Amino acid sequence: MQITRSSINTLKGPADWFTGDVYIDPVAAAPPPSRVQASLVHFTPGARTHWHRHPLGQTVFVTEGIGLCQRRGGPVEVIRPGDRVLFEPDEEHWHGAAPHRLMVHLAINEGDAEHAAVHWLTPVTDEEYPAAPPFGG
Ligand code: MN
Repeated sequence: MQITRSSINTLKGPADWFTGDVYIDPVAAAPPPSRVQASLVHFTPGARTHWHRHPLGQTVFVTEGIGLCQRRGGPVEVIRPGDRVLFEPDEEHWHGAAPHRLMVHLAINEGDAEHAAVHWLTPVTDEEYPAAPPFGG
């Protein structure tokens, strides 16, 4: 058993990967043979990831606020606390906060020697990011 007390600094999401202010707390980073990585990610209003893909897929579970996500070629979807999103391996996508709302999600990724956890692509532009998403439903 290994207990890690609340001693790991929150990371600022780098501008190479995110638009806007994003804060990342590493939740799980077990040594091999485990491949699971988990992070709690706080997106401030309007903040979002760049387009990216996960070679082994990704699950995110929304815990607070209102978020948005989109796969390449699909509609922008609204996600709320309790919603779980599975991004398929190598599916290009982005996720983040709604324009005027915080969003927090737990992100669960896998990586190994042959598969990076994530490949980063281009930013989600202001044209791609909705100014007024459909909050109904
Ligand atoms: Mn992702």
